Amino acid sequence: MSTQARTLVQVEGLRVVFGRAARALLRPSTLVVAVDDVTLTVDRGETFGLVGESGCGKSTLGRAVLQLVKPSAGRVIFDGTDLTGLGERAMRPFRRRMQMVFQDPIGSLDPRMSVGEAVGEPLLVHGLKRHADAMDAVRELFGLVGLDPDSTDRFPHEFSAGQRQRVGIARALASRTEFIVCDEPVSALDVSIQAQIVNLLEDLRERLGLTYLFIAHDLALVRHLSHRIAVMYLGRIVEVAGKVALCEDPLHPYTRMLLAAVPSTDRRRERQRPPAVVRGEVPSPLNPPAGCHFHPRCPQAMRQCRAETPALRQRSDGRLVACHLHH
Ligand code: SF4
Repeated sequence: MSTQARTLVQVEGLRVVFGRAARALLRPSTLVVAVDDVTLTVDRGETFGLVGESGCGKSTLGRAVLQLVKPSAGRVIFDGTDLTGLGERAMRPFRRRMQMVFQDPIGSLDPRMSVGEAVGEPLLVHGLKRHADAMDAVRELFGLVGLDPDSTDRFPHEFSAGQRQRVGIARALASRTEFIVCDEPVSALDVSIQAQIVNLLEDLRERLGLTYLFIAHDLALVRHLSHRIAVMYLGRIVEVAGKVALCEDPLHPYTRMLLAAVPSTDRRRERQRPPAVVRGEVPSPLNPPAGCHFHPRCPQAMRQCRAETPALRQRSDGRLVACHLHH
């Protein structure tokens, strides 16, 4: 398969800026570069993991890929079509094919709507089913995500958090979607329920040929699910690699720091391991450090790091890293 045929989503130089530029001395700039020149590709059938600490811009990037947030610059190409600048009418067929699963399904479900109506709504909106046939399709979707097909008349508050997330997934699937941005889909759930939802997502990807952009702050979770992983820090992608390469031989000091904080499943190794050093806090995106944003926390920072922004460069083995140590 050619690279073009293999790629479902291509993001080029994407930038999202929020806030207001300074207009006068007493009105300082409140500009936040939430997504800073991000370039990446997601292949068909792949789970592409996106990891980083809270507030690093992961969710904004996910929303900008789906055109739910308007990018300030850059392009998103979905299945060969540049979505940037498309009007709402032209976007409609793409909205059907690209969906989002949210961290908090209760916030994305209308409490006055039965869960059956919530899941059936995309079928009607996108003209995929007539009213009379929609409920049969909804029952089928309920079965697909492990919910009782006889529970379609119930309301969101009558379900557990895990069941509500299944409703959210069924709703995302209803429009025969191909690409789902999963934004921290299990971080609000109990650990025992997390595994069930993760297994469901994996199973659905294989059965339906779905493609995921899987966003989470938990590297252990992203490592479990993803084929490739991108690490994000203060709006920028700092490393991209296959999951084995990234987790066994991390190149970027920030990736190393994230990995050091992941507990090992091997008890003996875990006992022998020195305590993880997670240095400092993520700086404010309102006033990010110059040069490499990571330099105040980086144990290997050099003078160059404070002045020059390292570009995300591809190495001969195909891995991408943005760090002066590797250029
Ligand atoms: Fe550390 Fe410098 Fe690499 Fe940034 S560019 S991660 S500060 S060594």
